[in-house]
Amino acid sequence: MLKHFLIKEFVPPETWDAEGEQSITHIDERLLITADQIWEHFDSLYPGKVSMVINNWCYGGKFRYRGYRPPACTEGAKHSMHREIDGRLCGAFDADIYVRKSGRSVLMPAESVRQEIVRNRHKFPYLMRMEDGNGKTDGKEDSVTWVHCDIKGAGVMGKPITPLPPIRLFKL
Ligand SMILES: [Zn+2]
Repeated sequence: MLKHFLIKEFVPPETWDAEGEQSITHIDERLLITADQIWEHFDSLYPGKVSMVINNWCYGGKFRYRGYRPPACTEGAKHSMHREIDGRLCGAFDADIYVRKSGRSVLMPAESVRQEIVRNRHKFPYLMRMEDGNGKTDGKEDSVTWVHCDIKGAGVMGKPITPLPPIRLFKL
């Protein structure tokens, strides 16, 4: 089902260690599809040069709670879309987009990523909300330096809402 990511990139190591491939059952399929669609969009802009980072603990990085957050995790809000609560699965991820330029991986400012996604809204039919920064694209003054995406209020699998409402930019 996932084309451009490993399941490990959506769950923390403690979940992976306990459940392995079954970890995927904590995550809403519409979210996984959205991650692939976003990856594919940016790859179409910079073919072969894009990496999209959600969790990177499996590559030696520090991110582990940017997809599914298990009950014991204290990071973020109690009712966050990252959590599996109220009878729904994890429906959020936080991501960064990097583009390779002359051998270096360069972080794309979160606000530029958001604006690119908003401009191409029709390509991401299950994406409903992103956390807002402050509109600055220099990457320095953006108050939210990662791109939070979630599917809160999305249509059911195989049946996105029509017509698609604009992506909601929310502030915590
Ligand atoms: Zn988030």
